[in-house]
Amino acid sequence: TSNVTTARDNAPLLPKVKNIIAIASGKGGVGKSTTSSNLAVALANTGTKVGLIDADISGPSIPTMFNVEAEQPGVKQIDGKNVIIPIEQYGVKLMSIGFLTPADSAVVWRGPMASSALKQFIGDVEWGELDYLLIDLPPGTSDIHLTMVQTIPVTGAVIVTTPQKVALADATKGLSMFKQPQINVPVLGVVENMAYFTPEELPDNKYYLFGKEGGQKLAEKFGVPFLGEIPIVQTIRESGDIGYPAVMREGVSQEAFSLVAENVAR
Ligand code: ADP
Repeated sequence: TSNVTTARDNAPLLPKVKNIIAIASGKGGVGKSTTSSNLAVALANTGTKVGLIDADISGPSIPTMFNVEAEQPGVKQIDGKNVIIPIEQYGVKLMSIGFLTPADSAVVWRGPMASSALKQFIGDVEWGELDYLLIDLPPGTSDIHLTMVQTIPVTGAVIVTTPQKVALADATKGLSMFKQPQINVPVLGVVENMAYFTPEELPDNKYYLFGKEGGQKLAEKFGVPFLGEIPIVQTIRESGDIGYPAVMREGVSQEAFSLVAENVAR
């Protein structure tokens, strides 16, 4: 409806942030947080200032993926206002609900509470100057998405999907959502994760376990850029688990995520 005001109509929050990029997926488990964390580090490695908000309030995985699960953000007073100091790791400033709740507790929040957590991550955190602030959204479409676009001027959205039919169906919905007039966020493009598998002993073979080129076709269908494909690599999974993003190790994962970062920065 036309009476919804978006952040672009109001005085800007985060005036020192040049680009705000939402990372979204239709389905869970397609590698949205893996992509967010590797993309953040890849962008930081090009010498830009990067922040990452984990807005996946009920399933925050960024603290694990950056090996900062035990960290707690500090608070300081700036101009008489309490502000939260983000955790910094691998050159990326981080904020996650995971820093504020005990590790094993389940966060069962109603939409408005989750939305106010996101608002706090945007308004009450000392982000400083950033070239990129990435927002790792929850899967699907939710209150959080609406809160985000009504709170800050989002530069664009990156859609992560696997080539599998069910993932693509959900990614299509996600993509359409960003194009709706009330959301109206430019889609920067599609990342196809888990695109294929190459066994070490058969380096010239590609096995398309989840189907072939589904992400590419989705991008074509919507007329948005294809940002790159990420193969299934054991190191990517292991690196996520130990909290040392795969893009920091030389090899195919580094190449793949760096290319996505280049395309996003374009
Ligand atoms: P989402 O954020 O979409 O729920 P995650 O990023 O948490 O998904 O990824 C789900 C699981 O798949 C994680 O265990 C992650 O390590 C693994 N994973 C993601 N992408 C890849 C990949 N390209 N190769 C291997 N494992 C991957």
